[in-house]
Amino acid sequence: MNKFSKQLLTVGEMASGVSLTVPVYQLKGSGSGPSVYIQANIHGAEVQGNAVIYQLLEQLQSIELFGDITLVPYANPVACNHKNGEYTLGRFDPITGVNWNRMYHFNESLIDSVIEQHQDSDVDTIKKAFKQCMLADIQDQIDHNNYGLSTGRRIAYQLQQMAHSADIVLDLHTGPISSKHLYCPEYLTGSASHFNIPHTILIPNTFDGAMDEACFCPWWSLTQRFQKLGRNLDFNQESFTVELGSQELIDLDEALVDANSILSYLQYKNVVNSKRYVAEKMTRHACYLKDYKVYYAPMGGMVDYLATFGEELKAGEPLARILRMDNYGDGNALHYLTLEQDVIPILHFASASVNQGTQLYKLFTNYFTL
Ligand code: ZN
Repeated sequence: MNKFSKQLLTVGEMASGVSLTVPVYQLKGSGSGPSVYIQANIHGAEVQGNAVIYQLLEQLQSIELFGDITLVPYANPVACNHKNGEYTLGRFDPITGVNWNRMYHFNESLIDSVIEQHQDSDVDTIKKAFKQCMLADIQDQIDHNNYGLSTGRRIAYQLQQMAHSADIVLDLHTGPISSKHLYCPEYLTGSASHFNIPHTILIPNTFDGAMDEACFCPWWSLTQRFQKLGRNLDFNQESFTVELGSQELIDLDEALVDANSILSYLQYKNVVNSKRYVAEKMTRHACYLKDYKVYYAPMGGMVDYLATFGEELKAGEPLARILRMDNYGDGNALHYLTLEQDVIPILHFASASVNQGTQLYKLFTNYFTL
């Protein structure tokens, strides 16, 4: 039985002086495998990751661990509690409007200083030095930023410190109404098949402020810079955004399925030692981020979503139909929406009532099997 430790990390303060805290659970491994950081619920309505962390904790206590594992549910205490009527909001900071998952930090100039000092060092020395460098840089941003930090950045940077200390980072999210899918950096395509997730979006080495990017872009860039110097180094640093399904839902049975999916990946990465967790055989579709298309509602109205997630929708087949009762009797009350190419629908808007221009669907185009 592995014992876990639990601590509360203070990530900010409310107007009344109340501390904003997140729970941090840690399990120690033997030290022979990579270390892991998993967080959930940076977006307020995306709660299923907390249930997956529960199921992970339940199982990790009785498996042999090679690597240390840190688990952070309720990673964003502001967003978690951001309700409006019956709904949880929490995708954007309500004060600034900035997406909570666009506030992480990447300082590309650190790569120059590490290369300067460690051009000929071995991979472990470089890895250690780069990690220390990134951690010191973030600590400096937190401690010595004369003009302060926004609420969101203060939370993000403290989470990022824990993430940078690890070798593997999983950021658990959900879509609005969504199938399961994985955001995977292109250089880690081989790892995507070790999760039980049927859809993978392959993303390039561009930093747009998200946690997964903040954790893989530095290592990808460093690897590329060393390649130019004639050295092919593998730092064994991996980072993914795992999209677990739909927001505003907790399903503990499905969370167990998703925990097993994560454990099969961790088994593959030599973090846990259990033959119990093996990736399922399934058809895994992938597309490049540039081919992951948003389909905006061509008109306002009431939507009857027709397409099934994860199934190929042939060109010309109906994606959805829009009801316009204002046109009943003297016009067209029903409008079928179709596309001119084959797609795989991945997620759709959470409400049936949409304005023209609402992000109605997100779809794979030009997809292929992994
Ligand atoms: Zn999210």
